[in-house]
Amino acid sequence: MGDLFGTNGVRGVANVELTVEMVTRLAGSAGALLGKDIALGTDGRTTSPMFKEAAVSGLLSVGCTVHDVGMLPTPALQFSVRRLGLDGGLMVTASHNPPEFNGVKVMANDGVEISRERENEIEALFFEGGPELSPWDSVGCVRRRETLERYNRAIIEHVDSGLVEGGGLKVALDPGNGVAALAAPEIARRLGCEVFTVNANVDGRFPGRDSEPRPDNLGDLAALVEATGADVGVAFDGDGDRALFVDEGGKVHWGDRSFALVARDFMDKNPGAEVATPVSSSRVIEDVVEAGGGRIVWTKVGSVDVSRNMVDGGIGLGGEENGGIMYGPHLEVRDGSMSLALVLEIMARTGEPLSRLFAGLPVYEQMKDKVSCPNELKGKALEALRGAVEAPRVETMDGVKLWYGDGSWILIRPSGTEPVFRLYAESETQERVREILDENRVLVESLIEGLN
Ligand code: MG
Repeated sequence: MGDLFGTNGVRGVANVELTVEMVTRLAGSAGALLGKDIALGTDGRTTSPMFKEAAVSGLLSVGCTVHDVGMLPTPALQFSVRRLGLDGGLMVTASHNPPEFNGVKVMANDGVEISRERENEIEALFFEGGPELSPWDSVGCVRRRETLERYNRAIIEHVDSGLVEGGGLKVALDPGNGVAALAAPEIARRLGCEVFTVNANVDGRFPGRDSEPRPDNLGDLAALVEATGADVGVAFDGDGDRALFVDEGGKVHWGDRSFALVARDFMDKNPGAEVATPVSSSRVIEDVVEAGGGRIVWTKVGSVDVSRNMVDGGIGLGGEENGGIMYGPHLEVRDGSMSLALVLEIMARTGEPLSRLFAGLPVYEQMKDKVSCPNELKGKALEALRGAVEAPRVETMDGVKLWYGDGSWILIRPSGTEPVFRLYAESETQERVREILDENRVLVESLIEGLN
């Protein structure tokens, strides 16, 4: 079996790893399996128009009706699939990857990325001869659909817009020249905010900054916050499904903190609710959910697993530490603009500066490490590790996660892309987190050595 899909759709360097021929065949294979009516959207990359035409051709060749929703954020494409009642959707995007990359994300009829099993079916069709082509008189057709306005409206309807309007908030936005520029500023304005922007023209060369927002590349946004006296700054990734927040002092807060902020508010409104998050998530999420009488539903690492758990379990909130928040009442997918609206509502209701809201959350020390392990030994090493670890709580759905009596934890996982095991640990003090990392690194090293 080939290896078309990665952790988040199909990605590669345009015209090198990912070609027009591949996208045509992929789109045809996906269309043949998903059904007749397929939404198609793109991000703003320079190669997206080229791959879009390839996807159109592939879909038409198997008899699909293409619902062309144009250039828009990935979550808006996902919303369109659900809203228009379609059989699935394709998004031409490489999310936060560098500008030379492109890719395709495939959505099921509920708007969520397809399951791993569905990906395998599409791969099988792709590699084993391709889909069956339609006769000349039953190829598909293209319909243009305008859905961005309805998407913007839906987000506004999911928050108390009167409350946010009354808050008189000043908002600085940095879409990073990505497609969040097409939705987030408009949504914030219609929520009564005074909006300032940087890198808000869609440009597939990403001249402003990397399309992956990180604390080290948000200097322009922090400067904009300072210059305008904004109450909050928000940076988005290339396809607008993730958001990172900057407080009124220009400090960037990592995604687990903003997710915790939203989760705490969600628990106030929905006491006892379940919240879905990957086993890699910070204890700060557990803290706020448990304080609200709720329960964490742990998932494998990866946004699709969180989304699928939410849909299957009727869970209202999910999130990842990288700034992907999934608000179920809207759609069980990561959505940067929805995250923005939720945080604005929290700020308006509390009337507190964002820095103080963040300061109200527990703080933990985090550290990472890695241990070399040949790919062919990863399976055996993981099995040995599962047998060797001892802790009050152990979770083995994805790697091995151990919780200790003092609330510290470590996650040990084989990397999907490199010949290493990755170790992530979190604790209240630097000394303790170092101790846990060292202890477990030695254990993993000795287990791997024993297999050699
Ligand atoms: Mg993304």
